[in-house]
This record gives sequence, structure tokens and C-alpha cells, in this order.
Amino acid sequence: MTSPTIETDVAVLGGGILGVSTAVHLLRGGASVVLITESSLASGATGRSLSWLNSAGKRSDAYHLLREAGIDRYRTLYAADPSREWIQFDGGLYWAPAGEAPRAEARHEYEKSHGYDSKLVKPEQISALTPGIDETAVADVAVFNPGEGWVSLPHLVEYLMEEFNARGGTLIADAGKSRVLARDGKAWGIGTQDGSIYAAGKVVVACGAATPAVVEEHGIYIADGSPVSALVITEPAEHKLKAVLNTPRAAVRPNPGGTLALDHGWYEEQIVEQADGSFSIPEEVVQELTEEASRLLEGNPQLTPASWKIGRKPIPEDGEPVFGELDKLPGCFVAFSHSGATVGLIAGELLSYEILTGQKHPMLASFRPARFSRD
Ligand SMILES: Cc1cc2nc3c(=O)[nH]c(=O)nc-3n(C[C@H](O)[C@H](O)[C@H](O)COP(=O)(O)OP(=O)(O)OC[C@H]3O[C@@H](n4cnc5c(N)ncnc54)[C@H](O)[C@@H]3O)c2cc1C
Repeated sequence: MTSPTIETDVAVLGGGILGVSTAVHLLRGGASVVLITESSLASGATGRSLSWLNSAGKRSDAYHLLREAGIDRYRTLYAADPSREWIQFDGGLYWAPAGEAPRAEARHEYEKSHGYDSKLVKPEQISALTPGIDETAVADVAVFNPGEGWVSLPHLVEYLMEEFNARGGTLIADAGKSRVLARDGKAWGIGTQDGSIYAAGKVVVACGAATPAVVEEHGIYIADGSPVSALVITEPAEHKLKAVLNTPRAAVRPNPGGTLALDHGWYEEQIVEQADGSFSIPEEVVQELTEEASRLLEGNPQLTPASWKIGRKPIPEDGEPVFGELDKLPGCFVAFSHSGATVGLIAGELLSYEILTGQKHPMLASFRPARFSRD
């Protein structure tokens, strides 16, 4: 057998927010950690996320609880230094298409029913709650959620990696498509594309939308529902927006440097996959999205797209997260989730608890990978 390049307590595969957060929490708990990723850190969904920190709308109670704990951890991070430009808590504003006010009302009623801070507001009431919005763009009524926020994930990854380095973690970037190594039905390390081997007591697969494919090699099925999506970053613009906007034709949030981050679902079908596996989007679509966003902002400032990134948005088929050890491959843990921004810190915390203690955390009980088992 080839001798391992290095040997650690835990090898984490995937340098997005879930892998980085888990790695840092493991280091905090005293484990030695190697973090291995295909190219650079945050090159997947983490580098192109709207990253609205929320538990708005309908979902299972367990997922609400996890997301609310996720928001709690971000609030603690924010409170330690509210001047950080890359994480802010100024609320979120949602409205439905014109003529569909009952949708917004039902969302508000549901949110109130489980204690989520939610206010149903008329357009003329918005400016007293949050600045920078053109109230004439708001159809009928809106829902304002004062407790929501946003984070720029590339900045968060950079911040967490300072701690990762200070605590002696080892980063292997540009490792190419790597795989989980198994022997006698148990995971024992990661093998990278150049043949290097990283032996470890435990392995974490946090490969975003590629997670189901990485574990499939070991006969494990996780149903994948990851769509292709695009995030646009604008040039710095004259705006006063503080809240995250979720509206019928554009989602918008502030971004460091006076820029804005934009996305939506209406153009997903216009994204084209190229022969080399990369994606493209017609420039007119990007232009239309920035025009839609401009209409939402006070003064309708001219917005110019500076860059856009396209790729798969990790989403398990049933929409709920997948966290925990694989029954069929002991020693291998997975982290695969929609809303990985909101749950990024809490998921790393709870998963590292399970890895370090061997105990199952009750908050992850309904998110086990075995629910997809075909046996
Ligand atoms: C447009 C968009 C909007 C979003 N909006 C929100 C939002 O508003 N709120 C929210 O909470 N969440 C949001 N999300 C979701 C959130 O951003 C993701 O859930 C999160 O970033 C996923 O992080 P991850 O670490 O699981 O995966 P990724 O960031 O995709 O990281 C996985 C990493 O693993 C690497 N990798 C994959 N396969 C291999 C392999 N075989 N070997 C080595 N490395 C490998 C990849 O290169 C990648 O770097 C959004 C996502 C997108 C794309």
C-alpha cells in the first residue's frame, strides 16, 4: 500500500463554507485536520451565494430550529464587531407579485405562528422600517422580517481560515477531484488526483452539489435536486439599501464596497451548459436582472453588472439538509445542504460535535443520509 502523505484525526473534503466551518470547529475541539479541495477555497456555491440569513417561509420544524440556531451563531459573530462590512443584520423584505397579496399574508401568518419576527406592511410604511427602497415597486403588501441578515461567504471563509491556520490546520488546495478511500467497509482517508493519500481517523464529505456523486462510488445514494443558478455582483452603486430584498423578479442584498449581489430563479432555464461542463448565460438576461433590481431601489440608480458566476446550487432532492455519518460507510460523514449560508456555522459546530464525541446531536436527527437508503 502507498504510504500516506500525512495522517490526521479528520480529513475534510470540500473547501466551501460547510467544509471550512466543520474544519475550524474540529480544530477548536482539539483534532488535527487536513482540508482538501478541488481548486481554490470558495470556488463552489460559497463563492456565488446570495447568503441571506433567514428562516422565512414554510419548512419542517426541525429545519426551522436549525436555521434559527444558525442565525444565532451569526448574530454572535456580528455582535463581536458590528463594523465588519461583510456581515450585517438589517432585516429582510419580501413581497409577492401584484394581485397575490394573500400569498404574503399567509407567509406572515405562518411566520408569526412559530415566533418568527414578521411584520405585514403597506408600501408607505416601509421607509420608516428600512431605507433605500422604491415603495412604488412594492405590490399590495410586503413582509418585513427585522431579525434577518446577510453575510458575504468569501469574506467569512477568509476570516475562518485565519483561525484554521492559527490552530495548525493543513490546507491542500488544487487537489483536483478527490475521493474517499475505504477499506473493509470503513472510510480511512482521502486520495487526491495526483495520487497523494491523506489517511485520517474520520472523513467529512462537504463537496456541495458534488456530494451525492462522491459517495455514490461507495454504493451510497443521496437524492440530488441541485439546480443551476447564477449570482450577479454589480459595480459600486449609489444606494441606501440595508435589508435583503426578495421580490417577484429580483433578490438583492448589499455587498461590501457599495456593490450589490443579485439573483433570482426566473432565468435558470436560460443558463446553458457548455461541452466542458462550464455554464453560460445570455448577457441580456444579466442586464435584465440588474434593471429589475434598479426598479426596487430608491432613485432607481443605474446598476452595472461587474461579474457573474454560474454553477450548481447544492439542494438535496427533498429540500432538507443531509448531515451525519453514513451507516453504510462508517467513519465517513456528509454535509450537504440547501441554505448552507444560514446553517454554515451551526452545521460545522454540530457535525464536529458528532465526530469528536461519537454522540449523535438531537438537532441533526431528522437530517440523516440514511433516509435516502434504497435497501
Ligand atoms: C445563487 C445562490 C444563492 C444562494 N442563496 C442563499 C441564501 O440566500 N441563503 C442561504 O442560506 N444559502 C444560499 N445559498 C446556498 C449556499 O450558498 C450554499 O448552500 C453553500 O454555499 C454551500 O456550501 P458547501 O460548502 O456545501 O458547498 P460549495 O460551496 O459548493 O463547496 C464545495 C467545495 O467542494 C469542492 N469539491 C467538490 N467535489 C470535490 C471533489 N471530488 N474533490 C475535491 N473537492 C471537491 C468544490 O470545488 C467546492 O469548492 C445560495 C447558493 C447559490 C448558488
